[in-house]
Amino acid sequence: MEKIIDCAIIGGGPGGLTAGLYATRGGLKDVVLFEMGMPGGQITQSSEIENYPGFFDHTKSGMDFMDTWQEQCFSFGLKHEMKKVDSVRKENKLFTISLEGGNSVKAKTVIVATGSTPKRAGFNGEDEFFGRGVSTCATCDGFFYKNKPVTVLGGGDTALEEAVYLSNICSDVYVIHRRDEFRAAPSTVERVMNKENIHLVLDSVIEEVIGDNMGVVGVKVKNKDGEIKSIMSPGLFVFVGHNVNNSVLKEGSKFICDVNENGQVIVNLKMQTSVEGLYAVGDMRIDAPKQVVSAAGDGSIAALQAISYIQEEKYL
Ligand code: FAD
Ligand code: NAP
Repeated sequence: MEKIIDCAIIGGGPGGLTAGLYATRGGLKDVVLFEMGMPGGQITQSSEIENYPGFFDHTKSGMDFMDTWQEQCFSFGLKHEMKKVDSVRKENKLFTISLEGGNSVKAKTVIVATGSTPKRAGFNGEDEFFGRGVSTCATCDGFFYKNKPVTVLGGGDTALEEAVYLSNICSDVYVIHRRDEFRAAPSTVERVMNKENIHLVLDSVIEEVIGDNMGVVGVKVKNKDGEIKSIMSPGLFVFVGHNVNNSVLKEGSKFICDVNENGQVIVNLKMQTSVEGLYAVGDMRIDAPKQVVSAAGDGSIAALQAISYIQEEKYL
């Protein structure tokens, strides 16, 4: 007979890893975390984290921060399968998790923690020069532009935090934002304002990348009056938000559970979706504060719910 696991967790960011920790430590026997890459999630792209309670070390990156999470979770018996999940379906009270490549696994409960992916802004040359000067990760690529000027697009927390990070490596950082007000936290805006080598280019959008066969050379920027100017810099960092990674819950053009107009999964305070035994946590759920601490909190809630669901034998 095909083996049925207690809990399948999809996604190995802070939400999925915490769900794994609570599910295994709470007594579930077969808990498998499906993560298509290395566990850690989006925060591994961050140069620093200063708002996770109890962690107050400016010298550590998001990658350093997540290292011990994996170690702790796996020590309690969480299994990691480095696989991309294609879909989740429920039939006869059990879930089938279909994996890329054709295999599938049956589970009594599923916790989806697939997070979100950086959006593209849509200017000319963005795709063509992606990986050749256009980047969405300052930690990964900032060093390539040591003592050189770079451009950052966006006015949210990510854009401004990464602009500060880049300002410590690069000679000048030009922040291009389409409005004259920022979405980022006031304290982050203040940090940007206090950096002499960060230059704000407001009420402006990128028209196109200026590039050659070596990669990005600069950008053409248009302001609200239609004036166009060029900023010459070999690095262009795009931080314009994220798309919800909800494809595992899609069946054709519909979803197997309720989602809102932005594709965020609708859950209650117990992280229960509209499908019994299926939970959604972290950045992919409605009203997500999009924080490590809240994704982790969601993961713990969902795991405790999954444990109760299994103890009450609701899967029978
Ligand atoms: P994610 O971290 O997005 O993890 C989802 C995981 O699921 C990924 O590892 C992905 O590979 C995997 N996955 C997706 N689809 C599949 C699939 N089909 N099959 C298998 N695996 C899949 N928050 C803070 O609290 N403080 C900060 O300072 C901070 N800084 C940030 C800086 C940056 C640059 C960014 C991008 C984000 C930052 N955030 C910060 C936000 C924080 O990283 C996220 O809120 C948090 O990581 C969300 O966790 P998650 O578990 O929901 O999803
Ligand atoms: P975000 O808050 O959605 O900000 C996206 C920014 O990009 C906005 O300023 C937006 O402009 C701009 N933008 C969007 N589409 C654009 C386009 N096509 N062209 C040009 N500009 C465009 O995204 P984020 O900064 O990645 O943050 C995501 C979430 O993670 C947020 O909830 C944030 O608070 C959280 N986060 C938190 C921290 C932290 O707490 N330390 C750090 C990073 C991220 P408008 O403002 O005009 O819409």
